[in-house]
Amino acid sequence: MAEIAQYSLIGIYGGTFDPIHYGHLRIAEEVADILELHQLFFLPAGHPRLRTPPFVTGKHRVAMLQEAIRDNPRFSVDDREIKRPGETYSVESLREIRQAYEANGPVALCFITGADAFIRLPYWYHWRELFELCHLVIVNRPGSAPVNPLSDLPDELRDVCQDRWARRTNELKNSPAGLIFTASTTLLDISSTTIRNIIASGKSARYLLPESILNYI
Ligand code: ATP
Ligand code: MG
Repeated sequence: MAEIAQYSLIGIYGGTFDPIHYGHLRIAEEVADILELHQLFFLPAGHPRLRTPPFVTGKHRVAMLQEAIRDNPRFSVDDREIKRPGETYSVESLREIRQAYEANGPVALCFITGADAFIRLPYWYHWRELFELCHLVIVNRPGSAPVNPLSDLPDELRDVCQDRWARRTNELKNSPAGLIFTASTTLLDISSTTIRNIIASGKSARYLLPESILNYI
């Protein structure tokens, strides 16, 4: 019997994007394909609590994101965290986004996060509430231990993640929030930190990020 999907999936990709690079873009594209997303929002952080302040202002990071995704009909930028004063919390944004989209019918938000960010989840503001608001879609990353149901996670995280692992994308469409899915995406060893260091040292960052973003910088 064919399964009927109950919830439409919307991708939310949070990050600093300081600057956006081909690692981010390729992951977003592959996750959109894997989950059959019609919409994926990049959600740049305004004043993240857990890291040094971004190198570039929010306004410029949004402008670079918009430029980078200009020709992609599935992608958009959600700049609510940039506009909001003070520290920004993903739970708050996800709460707002859920409210906005639920009005149009049942949705399941899929929050995309790299393995390095996922492992630090217990440091996030009200992190347990994330599981009431969205599914987590993990992408692995060179230099970070792979995340899967057998991974050696910090105790607190392992306890919360237990029983939440989805093995097929269809499971994500059958519940509004609370599952964890590891998407098999191409491993690309690119980071914004490396790009910032390369540029600061006067070398070429070409081919690590779109040419138009390099020109913008
Ligand atoms: P920085 O070096 O400044 O931390 P970054 O390259 O890690 O930059 P972020 O904006 O911090 O980029 O990342 C946003 C999200 O994308 C995070 O969840 C991060 O784990 C993930 N991510 C970034 N680059 C990659 C990559 N090359 N492969 C997999 N995930 C990535
Ligand atoms: Mg990072």
